[in-house]
Amino acid sequence: MTALTLTDVNKSFGKVHVLKDINIEIEEGEFVVFVGPSGCGKSTLLRVIAGLEDASSGEIRIGDDVVNMTPPSKRGLAMVFQSYALYPHLNVRKNMSLALKQEKQPKDVIEERVAEASRMLNLDDYLDRFPSELSGGQRQRVAIGRAIVRHPKIFLFDEPLSNLDAALRMNTRIEIAGLHSQLGTSMIYVTHDQTEAMTLADKIVVLRDGRVEQIGSPMELYNNPANQFVAGFLGSPA
Ligand code: ADP
Ligand code: MG
Repeated sequence: MTALTLTDVNKSFGKVHVLKDINIEIEEGEFVVFVGPSGCGKSTLLRVIAGLEDASSGEIRIGDDVVNMTPPSKRGLAMVFQSYALYPHLNVRKNMSLALKQEKQPKDVIEERVAEASRMLNLDDYLDRFPSELSGGQRQRVAIGRAIVRHPKIFLFDEPLSNLDAALRMNTRIEIAGLHSQLGTSMIYVTHDQTEAMTLADKIVVLRDGRVEQIGSPMELYNNPANQFVAGFLGSPA
């Protein structure tokens, strides 16, 4: 079953053509990494999928539904940003439950989902703390928890590790991989880091200047890069 299909998606800001004829298909349960240099359009692509930006043309399908006109909150996706975007005046429990309250979920459902997410992320002991009382790694876990409680069809991560130091980056990367195997949900993960792409992905989408250069498994791209750019970017001797 296909989780997400992008067909000939374009996005311009005024005269700036940022995304160019993007065609991507993502299967249910797949871990897909969008990789490419800074400024190539990764965040814009994620925002178009999430509905935070409208596509200028093309079709976005989630499962069987065309969602071009569907507002972000109704697309069944949850996004985790690089800057954790936690509410400083709310404790961890409230940060995690806010979206569910806005969806008017019953109280017992909210409590159950927050408990489930905090168990998965080892945050049980931190539910009453405020973001300022947490480490960077813990804050990022709360941001991930806020996505988990929504039971999304697809998780969207935009460079979630780039504010963490090297050791924590590795730990959190392993945690995200563990979450993926536990939940079995499709994940789209944006990064400019080749190591993250090679270690996390079932499928890598290489972007350059708003275009898809190549799509394939880490091994396919490593062994058979379509061109010098892909070869250079993923570190294989071309
Ligand atoms: P990446 O995430 O790969 O670093 P972005 O998607 O953030 O790249 O940006 C891709 C290009 O789109 C950049 O040239 C950026 O300046 C431009 N861009 C992104 N958002 C906007 C916007 N709201 N208005 C105008 N240009 C934008
Ligand atoms: Mg970006």
